[in-house]
Amino acid sequence: MPICSACGRDCQEVTVDFGIGHYEYWGAPGYDTRPALVSNCCEADCVWPEDEEPVDEEEVEPEWQ
Ligand SMILES: [Zn+2]
Repeated sequence: MPICSACGRDCQEVTVDFGIGHYEYWGAPGYDTRPALVSNCCEADCVWPEDEEPVDEEEVEPEWQ
């Protein structure tokens, strides 16, 4: 479980869109989206403890002879 860098408690990572959404610039419509992964409590960075980092497990095939 990640830890919130703002309050130091366990948190969950949530995606928040910091974009401004729909906008119009000189008559041209656009959509601004800036998704960011933040903690659900403070919208701050999440810190993963080193021993909980996802590890790629190498697939080791047992050799039967
Ligand atoms: Zn927090």
